[in-house]
Amino acid sequence: MKQVATIIAQAERVWLVSHVLPDGDALGSSLGLMHLLKAQGKQARVFSAGPIPEEYLFLPGMDQVSDVLPQIGDQDLAVMLDCHQPQRTGPVSEAFLAKLPQVAIIDHHQGAVDFGQAAWVDPGFAATSEMVTLLAQAEGWDITPEAATCLFTGVQTDTGSFRYANTTPRVFRVAADLAQAGAQVWPISQEVYATRPKRLSLLGRIMDNLELSQEGRLALSQITLDDLEKVGAGPADLEQAVETLRLIPGVEVSALFRQTPKGAVKVSMRSRGKVDVSRVAIELGGGGHKNAAGVTLEGNLAGVRRDIATRLRLGLEELS
Ligand code: 5GP
Ligand code: MN
Ligand code: MN
Repeated sequence: MKQVATIIAQAERVWLVSHVLPDGDALGSSLGLMHLLKAQGKQARVFSAGPIPEEYLFLPGMDQVSDVLPQIGDQDLAVMLDCHQPQRTGPVSEAFLAKLPQVAIIDHHQGAVDFGQAAWVDPGFAATSEMVTLLAQAEGWDITPEAATCLFTGVQTDTGSFRYANTTPRVFRVAADLAQAGAQVWPISQEVYATRPKRLSLLGRIMDNLELSQEGRLALSQITLDDLEKVGAGPADLEQAVETLRLIPGVEVSALFRQTPKGAVKVSMRSRGKVDVSRVAIELGGGGHKNAAGVTLEGNLAGVRRDIATRLRLGLEELS
């Protein structure tokens, strides 16, 4: 942490970037750090390749998120949050990051880190937003209500609203500190967990396509571009669906396969705790955590589904 704190302390103009298809933690940690740095008198701007899910549009400072790159030389430092591989930030920013003299990383995903001048990467944390809060506290930075709302959203969403196995006592302490600093708990919940009819329609399609195997321990389903179009939904509407599959009683591992507009297949995997799905993702060039991981693969839906199903069955068979 100290190395990252030092490199940030020395910078005046900071560029913040997170992963493509950003989630609540990607956006919450980036915007949270933006507010914290501005309160320190620094210049800070957030880049996101998007698309931004509608439930996060309320986050304070969202109007300052841009998908336009700055000029080289317009910033002293880039901070990569909630990911540690430059390619996770999208093709445009990946090329840009490679040209920057100073990159710091704050992340909680598994996998080797071979990028950046200072990296604080620790899968022991539930959320990057938790790490940013602890950094602010260690450095004595003022946590404004705007920063607190962004960081709370990141901690809340990456712990599944304080339900997942990553919900440690420290997570509750961080959440309490953020609430104390002015995080708007009930307004955040209303925005993030609003009922969105098109998502429920998608979920209906996912349940229609559900295939249970391995004595009900493996749940697989898929969504085609055609399904998305029929419902009027986009990729950002699918974040919660794979969680729903994992919560079917008896299911140990779930995976959702979805066609991407570029003709690839995005795989989202979830485990209840016994199988390490990040192993499967990392082997194939993706990443994540033990209980939640993903990868995007070239190939057709049926082929990718077969390959991943075989790997997940092997993981389940190792248990029995
Ligand atoms: P999701 O299935 O919700 O997209 O992602 C689950 C977890 O795996 C998240 O922590 C996410 O950052 C990570 N993840 C998903 N897809 C990829 C990928 O293509 N590459 C890497 N490195 N991580 C991914
Ligand atoms: Mn994330
Ligand atoms: Mn995260």
